[in-house]
Amino acid sequence: MPAADRRVIVVGAGNAALCAALSAREHGAEVVVLEKAPEAERGGNTYFTGGGFRFPYAGMAEIEQLIPDLSEAERARVDVGSYPAAQFRADLARVTEGLIDDGLATTLVREARPTMQWLAEQSVRFTLMIGRQANEVDGVLVFYGGLTVEAVGAGKGLSDQEFAAAERAGIELRYGAKVVGLLREGTRVRGVRVWTDGVEQELAADAVVLAAGGFEANAEMRTRYLGQGWDLAKVRGSRFNTGDAIRAALEIGAQSFGHWSGAHAVAWDLNAPPTGNRVVADLYQKHSYPYGIIVNLDGERFVDEGADLRNYTYAKYGREILRQPGRVAFQIFDQQTVGLLRDEYRVRQVTMAQADSIAELAEGLGVSVAGLERTVAEFNAACGGGDFHPSRLDGLRTEGVTPPKSNWALPISQPPYLGYAVTCGITFTFGGLRIAPRSAQVLDTEERPIDGLYAAGELIGGLFYDNYAGGSGLMAGSVFGRIAGRAAARGD
Ligand SMILES: Cc1cc2nc3c(=O)[nH]c(=O)nc-3n(C[C@H](O)[C@H](O)[C@H](O)COP(=O)(O)OP(=O)(O)OC[C@H]3O[C@@H](n4cnc5c(N)ncnc54)[C@H](O)[C@@H]3O)c2cc1C
Repeated sequence: MPAADRRVIVVGAGNAALCAALSAREHGAEVVVLEKAPEAERGGNTYFTGGGFRFPYAGMAEIEQLIPDLSEAERARVDVGSYPAAQFRADLARVTEGLIDDGLATTLVREARPTMQWLAEQSVRFTLMIGRQANEVDGVLVFYGGLTVEAVGAGKGLSDQEFAAAERAGIELRYGAKVVGLLREGTRVRGVRVWTDGVEQELAADAVVLAAGGFEANAEMRTRYLGQGWDLAKVRGSRFNTGDAIRAALEIGAQSFGHWSGAHAVAWDLNAPPTGNRVVADLYQKHSYPYGIIVNLDGERFVDEGADLRNYTYAKYGREILRQPGRVAFQIFDQQTVGLLRDEYRVRQVTMAQADSIAELAEGLGVSVAGLERTVAEFNAACGGGDFHPSRLDGLRTEGVTPPKSNWALPISQPPYLGYAVTCGITFTFGGLRIAPRSAQVLDTEERPIDGLYAAGELIGGLFYDNYAGGSGLMAGSVFGRIAGRAAARGD
């Protein structure tokens, strides 16, 4: 059947879904996007993101291909370094302890940069991630950790630009349309069952792309798969990602894949609402902890704050916070590093205390005074000498405390001291469906492709285990969304 006669249904309206929709349309299909949320809450987790994309690049010239409007002054002010494909691949392997699916990793690394170019051709505009991924060293903004570019307007900007592109391309968008099941004819998927205003309807299609997010907003599934206590985590983003599409696919024999007991979870303001707020968005996160220490209610440290660059630890430290008494932790800084704190520390909606002594700070935060005084004294005594460099692993480590701090270990000694109260905020879940890496077609439990069914985004498993490299979620959603849309349109 020529692609022009093919009808593709895309389930969801986040980044992965809209990339799939744009790609299917580009390859000639008629496309309908079904979004569970009402229009006012459209866009999934994508809307709440920082809009950061991780992809390999050789140097400034390749960044400028994506950001052609950089001024001479901006160019002179930044050092973006380079991020070779082999480094991207190695980072993915390192943070997932070698468990990332080889085929998915190969496709992601190979397609990331061409997909960024493709997004630019869809009129998504990019800018440098200066405020969050660079530190000023000797008057130059030095980027670190392979995450250099964000969409203009962050997650909201990305979402708005992708919706605008979809509208221009003539893609039909239906809101308040919740997919609850898949239709089959023999072994082939022939459409979806969808609820709109409580009325169930069957919609036929030649192919269906599932891109409806993970199960992070489903307390029952979180507890069932992630374990005890996860029902009490705060949800950083969309309240609509409740695992519906994963379940619908499993019901027809799709293979479950990846790290079902794992999730991306971060330090999130203690008083943030239970699910994402569309105005504050990701500013409830608190990601500058490598430049301070983190303690629990007893005033005790429990992680190596400087184990690695922030991009390679932040997604697993939420889980460590969930394990602490009361699911609470406190990030402590002094005046030596306060200038390095990211934008999210300066929002009005922040739970913090400031004091001239450690005892007063502990009282202000509700932390054990004796515990915090002891911890800070021991920590300070364990800090050695050396050159502090915020944008690279500087090797400034502690000696003789447990857990150690492996980099950026400056004593907490210059008042006033600042403390920020955080809890665990879940971002997305790692377990999901198995896809063929080259076509994004969903595989069944015997590894056979399911005719007519494709998937992309947070609901695929096999990419992330235990941990995550910042900026790979949007990149993977775009890469596999684009592949899924193309394959669905062609009937590959
Ligand atoms: C606060 C925050 C900040 C983040 N920052 C970044 C970042 O800077 N860079 C990065 O790479 N990643 C970031 N992430 C992770 C990022 O959200 C994801 O990697 C990416 O946005 C996921 O895209 P997606 O399309 O798979 O899912 P989503 O964007 O969540 O889209 C899922 C869609 O499916 C819809 N849906 C759900 N169920 C149904 C159903 N039954 N029927 C129809 N539709 C349904 C939802 O309404 C939604 O539209 C962040 C996440 C959060 C929460």
